[in-house]
Amino acid sequence: MDRSGGDDGHPAIPDDAAVPRAALGDGRTVFTKAMSEPPPIPEEGIARAVEILRSGRLFRYGEDTGGGSEAARFEAEFAAYTGRAFAVGVNSCGCALFLALKTLGAEPGDAVLCNAFTLAPVPGAIVHAGCRPVLVDIADDLTVDIADLEVKIAASGARIFLMSHMRGHVGDLDGIMALCDRHGVAVIEDCAHTLGARWDGRPVGGFGRTACFSGQTFKHINGGEGGVLATDDPDIAARAIILSGSYMMYEQHTARPPAAAFDAIRDTTPNFSMRMTDLTAALLRPQLAGLDDCITAWNRAHDRIAAGLVSIPNIVPIQRDRRESYVGSSIQFRVSDLPRGEIAGFVADAGRHGVFLKWFGADRTVGFTSRYDQWGYAGAEAALRNADRILGDLVDMRIALSLDDEDCDTILAVLSEAMAATRETLRA
Ligand SMILES: *Cc1c(COP(=O)(O)O)cnc(C)c1O
Repeated sequence: MDRSGGDDGHPAIPDDAAVPRAALGDGRTVFTKAMSEPPPIPEEGIARAVEILRSGRLFRYGEDTGGGSEAARFEAEFAAYTGRAFAVGVNSCGCALFLALKTLGAEPGDAVLCNAFTLAPVPGAIVHAGCRPVLVDIADDLTVDIADLEVKIAASGARIFLMSHMRGHVGDLDGIMALCDRHGVAVIEDCAHTLGARWDGRPVGGFGRTACFSGQTFKHINGGEGGVLATDDPDIAARAIILSGSYMMYEQHTARPPAAAFDAIRDTTPNFSMRMTDLTAALLRPQLAGLDDCITAWNRAHDRIAAGLVSIPNIVPIQRDRRESYVGSSIQFRVSDLPRGEIAGFVADAGRHGVFLKWFGADRTVGFTSRYDQWGYAGAEAALRNADRILGDLVDMRIALSLDDEDCDTILAVLSEAMAATRETLRA
């Protein structure tokens, strides 16, 4: 059984992890459910996908689309859900980020700001656009360090900040947007983990010039792959549609600006072939419709685990701002006052008992982990003091939608016993 998982995730677990863990025979609590199994695609999405497969019409555009494409319907629903005027479906969030940069006029060689705690596709999108990532330090709540952002804006002269709401932690959007506005810096929001989240009552993804979302299996809606660029700016929307590969069939989009917005750019904008297929859109549509129920389930499990973690020694939760309504699809905490070897031991011990954690402080990134100092292509110019300190003891756990209260309590027992065993080794 392949128990590797999470986008995001966890180091691959060898096949023998499928051996019943009671076989460990150490009398300890064992969690036996899969931690990163995605939920099935809703039946409605499967039925629609089968219809599309039978029709053979997987491509979203055509000379004769009849009732319009599934992708166009998804985009209109997505724009409505996120409160944006326009939405453009593409093949991944990474490509949406790339298009967001291109539509803001990023040119090869330009500096683009980006917070240092994010996933590799984010600096990857900046490099894809030929630009140079300028990494900004983070704060104890895992979001961008506003003081360092101001320093880096001044030092780099960057005109764009690609703000990643990594693992669903949303920074002080009032403060960040005010600072960026004051300096004429355009903001792109990376919302791979914040579809459905809010800041002070407004949807996250509604603050920057552009927001980018993911439809990858381990984010909030699962098309296997997929991405969306959302904006209120008609010029950005028109250019994103053509860049994404609409050919001259852009009028088949419904969440789009008026045809006049395309006139000035249609003959000067290249086609990058980053389209969403109708098949992907068919899978995503019912999941978007059911997302709020999923958020309730995620947050119930997240909050129960978060409440229990507080009483485990050496585990420090991550603080959140009261203005933030998050989607608890994963949870992060810090392991304080333990030597590195013991943090590794704690993570390994929990894994042996069925709870798969990921540690951002490991010597090498493994699986889906990502740490700024290991992006050799992103050219970190200097060590980032907070990021080094925080990521050094930061641990991450995926929250499966299937966790019930009892599962959460079992996970907490495994973590508590793993910590007790780790502290025991330390004393020995
Ligand atoms: C997954 C992820 C992305 C990229 O999403 P893809 O759809 O896989 O390209 C970007 N940012 C963050 C924070 C992510 O977790």
